[in-house]
Amino acid sequence: MSELFLPQELIRKKRDGITLTDPEIGFLVQGISDGSLTDAQLGAFAMAVFKCGMSLDERVDLTRHMMNSGETLQWGQLELDGPVVDKHSTGGVGDKISLMLAPIVASCGGYVPMISGRGLGHTGGTLDKLESIPGYDGTPNNSKFQSLVKEVGCAIIGQTANLAPADQRFYATRDVTATVESIDLITASILSKKLASGLDALVMDIKTGNGAFAADFKMAQELAQSIANVSSQSGVPTSCLISDMNQVLGHSVGNATEVSECLDFLINPNEANTRLLNLTIELAAYMLQLSGLEKDLVAARQKSLEALNSGKAASVFGKMIFELGGPIDLLENPLKHLPSMPVISSVKSPSSGYISEIDVRAVGLSMIHLKAGRTKSTDPIDHGVGLSEIVSIGQWVNKGDSLAMAHCRDKDQLSYLEKTLPSLIILNENQNESPVLIHEVLSSTTDSSHE
Ligand code: URA
Repeated sequence: MSELFLPQELIRKKRDGITLTDPEIGFLVQGISDGSLTDAQLGAFAMAVFKCGMSLDERVDLTRHMMNSGETLQWGQLELDGPVVDKHSTGGVGDKISLMLAPIVASCGGYVPMISGRGLGHTGGTLDKLESIPGYDGTPNNSKFQSLVKEVGCAIIGQTANLAPADQRFYATRDVTATVESIDLITASILSKKLASGLDALVMDIKTGNGAFAADFKMAQELAQSIANVSSQSGVPTSCLISDMNQVLGHSVGNATEVSECLDFLINPNEANTRLLNLTIELAAYMLQLSGLEKDLVAARQKSLEALNSGKAASVFGKMIFELGGPIDLLENPLKHLPSMPVISSVKSPSSGYISEIDVRAVGLSMIHLKAGRTKSTDPIDHGVGLSEIVSIGQWVNKGDSLAMAHCRDKDQLSYLEKTLPSLIILNENQNESPVLIHEVLSSTTDSSHE
């Protein structure tokens, strides 16, 4: 017979800073899943963890119980001839990397079952971006998803209700009880979902900077350390790259505008935004090296670049889109398929100077204001609205030069961006260095500064 506990006694224990045992944590997670833990109790438990923290063992137990609250993907019966490896980003503005990264790694022999989220808060979501492609089905069942991963090498889909369902209820409660920003709970939330997809290796892109969820570098470091520790104890080798989010990643933000940038990137990598290219290749290299496909990072970078420059990654991407219901000629004829806005116009700089700072979070929020993102998970979004050709830090602009191209539904939206955007971009007469792209890398076994 399983042990019986009283939820209020376990909450009291955590509230008083006492370590919970594995069966106690299992009991609480069971209560989250079957509804026997009330919303009030769940909120109180979240706050107790927020205030008192969890030990590494508690975090590992919480992650495992949440992971086992639903289905877990098994890959053994598919007899894949390479490792199952994934990347997860903590979320940013203009972060479209998954669209290029998954096909690059697939072209190099990895299998990438990428389960991505929708945008929430000021950040964008990979699934929302992909849904700007007509016909794209981001919710296939598990068996179709797994056979696609085997056949194509990668598939990017949305979160399914049966993967770590305890996290869905827990996260929704945290969202309304001011308990999202707990390193312990974020770790268990992210890893329960990622580990449920049966990975051999995981690379985390932990964003820091004014457009990141972990704006503070120290918080990003703590999160990276926590994720590396828990995934190592859970048996999945993990590397966490802490990357900069003090400017939009790449030169576009929105949904269709970002897909369009990804298509250009895959077709013509020589002209890609340098920071976007470098971070994509670095993440790919860590995925190849960590999963054992390449012996070191130098070889892995080389292999990733070859996959991109040869057009192999582009063709894997095209295949993935087609297999998930999108048009067969998306890469050849993007304009025929992606939504295009009636008003496309540049937003001009009111003065001259070097771009020294960008309020990236506010840029993300401006997109939500125009319905390119959502304020609650059920909101519909406008996939066509967005910005392209956004300036970068360190770049010189003259008065009247373009800061970005605005893709708008109407003139009111354009006026809003003309008023808002210049106030979010600070110019200076001296040139700032562009912020470092990757601050640090932590791996589950070793710590190292990035070289
Ligand atoms: N992303 C998640 O999936 N969970 C969190 O708790 C925070 C960010």
